[in-house]
Amino acid sequence: MTRSNHSSYEHYREAVHARLNRYIYALDSPDDRMVAIVARTELPRYVRYWVTLLAKHEPTTSGKCPTCSRWWRAVSAPCGTWKWAHAFLTISPAPTTVPPSQIDKGVHGYAESDSAGFYVTAKP
Ligand SMILES: [Zn+2]
Repeated sequence: MTRSNHSSYEHYREAVHARLNRYIYALDSPDDRMVAIVARTELPRYVRYWVTLLAKHEPTTSGKCPTCSRWWRAVSAPCGTWKWAHAFLTISPAPTTVPPSQIDKGVHGYAESDSAGFYVTAKP
């Protein structure tokens, strides 16, 4: 890695960790308003990202992913991106991230799928 690439990497790394630390701070806070603010500001962007990404991996009429396929190798649906998205978003319920200070109050459990297919926090 050259010096220029290294400093660029460090810039990327610091920016990404700063953002992740913002999420961790909000999730660790007993104040759910912090989580709500992060969710309201970040979740729409993540949803747009997922929708855009997955649209690029929608199979053609021949059932092949136009993004993952190469001239020497066709990739059938579901491609790796769809498999990863499925595993990440649906396979197991996401554990709720209740701060330790709230656990003693009986607020714990796992997210569940409601009738509309959305994950919701289980009521204690
Ligand atoms: Zn694909």
